[in-house]
Amino acid sequence: MDFMREALKEAYEGINNRHGGPFGCVIVKDGQIIGQGHNRVLVKHDPTCHGEMEAIRDACEKTGSHDLSGCELYTTAEPCPMCLGAILWANIAKVYYGCNVNDTDKIGFRDDKFYDFFNGEKNILTLEESDRKECKKLFDEYIKDKKAQRY
Ligand SMILES: [Zn+2]
Repeated sequence: MDFMREALKEAYEGINNRHGGPFGCVIVKDGQIIGQGHNRVLVKHDPTCHGEMEAIRDACEKTGSHDLSGCELYTTAEPCPMCLGAILWANIAKVYYGCNVNDTDKIGFRDDKFYDFFNGEKNILTLEESDRKECKKLFDEYIKDKKAQRY
């Protein structure tokens, strides 16, 4: 099966229905698609509904697990930092992408702003430590519970 073609089908479904940008994704395990999705940011009014996020949610729901180790992800465009984070949290170790970040920039998406932030541009977002002591207590409670599931 041509998995990128399946990701493209998802993306076309998304743009034809005005769900969001031209981004589709499938997640594959052992040669089978176990999750798929496309960008639904506009229709869901949710900035986290990128194609990769939708496909990860779908795969996790279908498998009943937050761990997608051994899966491969096919996406019509190079993943943004949010999706890269989700891919790493899901333990996916191989990604195939179609268009690259420069292609995405040319059609008006702003991944480049995030890379500016990661490269030290502080006018985009401020991070400040607050009430660390109370929050550390929470962590202490969590770590005491040996049965708690670890990520
Ligand atoms: Zn993304």
